[in-house]
Amino acid sequence: LPQKFLDALPVLKQLQTHGFEAYFVGGSVRDTLLGSQINDVDIATNAYPAEVKNIFKRTVDTGIKHGTIMVLDHGNGYEVTTFRTESGYQDFRRPDHVTFVRSLKDDLKRRDLTINALAMDPTGKIIDLFGGLADLKAKKIKAVGQPAERFHEDALRMMRAVRFVSQLGFTLEKQTRQAISDNAQLLTKIAVERIHVEWVKLMLGKTVDHALAEFIRTKMYLYCPCFKDHENNLKKIADLSGLSLDNEVTVWVLLAHYFGLKPKETGQMLRKWKSSNDLIKDVTTAQNALENFPQLEPKLLYETGLPLLLVANQVAKYENSALPDEKLHSMYVSLPIKNKRELTLTGNDLIKELKIKPGPKIGKIINLVEEMVLNGELNNDKNSLLQYAKSLI
Ligand code: ATP
Ligand code: MG
Repeated sequence: LPQKFLDALPVLKQLQTHGFEAYFVGGSVRDTLLGSQINDVDIATNAYPAEVKNIFKRTVDTGIKHGTIMVLDHGNGYEVTTFRTESGYQDFRRPDHVTFVRSLKDDLKRRDLTINALAMDPTGKIIDLFGGLADLKAKKIKAVGQPAERFHEDALRMMRAVRFVSQLGFTLEKQTRQAISDNAQLLTKIAVERIHVEWVKLMLGKTVDHALAEFIRTKMYLYCPCFKDHENNLKKIADLSGLSLDNEVTVWVLLAHYFGLKPKETGQMLRKWKSSNDLIKDVTTAQNALENFPQLEPKLLYETGLPLLLVANQVAKYENSALPDEKLHSMYVSLPIKNKRELTLTGNDLIKELKIKPGPKIGKIINLVEEMVLNGELNNDKNSLLQYAKSLI
């Protein structure tokens, strides 16, 4: 067993000592069987939350409404979740209400995909009640039970299915794909924030080309914000050779570029996707640089900053307009200044030495000085800058 499981074993053993069942469940079991690195382990038990809290000295109610208690043990935190079913689905969303149950089978039954419905007991034995092992072996993404029914309960599962296609390099099982095609419009019923999370994971997956093809083929894209007119552009992206993305900003710059959006329209799309202002700023900044590749004036390099220049360069690679990263790096490094603070002249200097009154004029002068330094027309030493400033007033 990987170390993460071994570390958590005392928690499972303790639950057993008190007469309860305890298993590892979810992504960590799946990923271990696939031979991949795992993040955190999830533990499921038939002990009710109050019982879990009685057994362990130190706990935190991280998600008690949903039956999750964090157990603190040797400086680590473990999420222990009571077996549950999710009854009373309304409006195709996950319910706020959960019902705690005592049977592992009922808990596994409410999970989305067969490969996510495996459990592992403390001895390392796999409990496979829904054919998850066979599907792992066959590299199939398959819903637990009747796929259409499961997608009506929670439409996000359709996005999750295709996200796992991308991350694991698996294929959609036929009936699961059919049910997604039949029910794709249910995506409009769920919170955009949840779709957003799965969409980004899909785009960052290792077989994003295949996953995008499924996303288009099943018509899920029709029900995602601002995608419906872009079937062909999405196809172009899916067909890019060697497509491989490693951060969210790059994902959106690539989309905006292939959708032919102006930075302002990109901002509108991202707002529809409920993105943070920081993300919107980064994406539009990088996109603005990209539209100027490979012609990069010092001012543009300066305003974009190295991290976002490298993002833009990532996308430019798919159109062969990229520069070698090292070249971009050295262009940036040789800028005379990297930010305003590096100017040897400040607003205060203007007030003190040139007796200019505080006000908008100060900023204007500083901006002109900054531009001259960036373009190499002025040396960044205080005397030259003061002299130039003087000539402006
Ligand atoms: P990741 O490695 O991305 O965390 P994961 O499988 O652990 O993958 P989580 O979102 O952390 O995904 O969910 C943990 C487990 O909870 C899943 O393996 C699955 O069994 C179950 N699950 C998560 N979301 C849903 C859902 N929408 N419907 C049904 N079961 C779900
Ligand atoms: Mg997880």
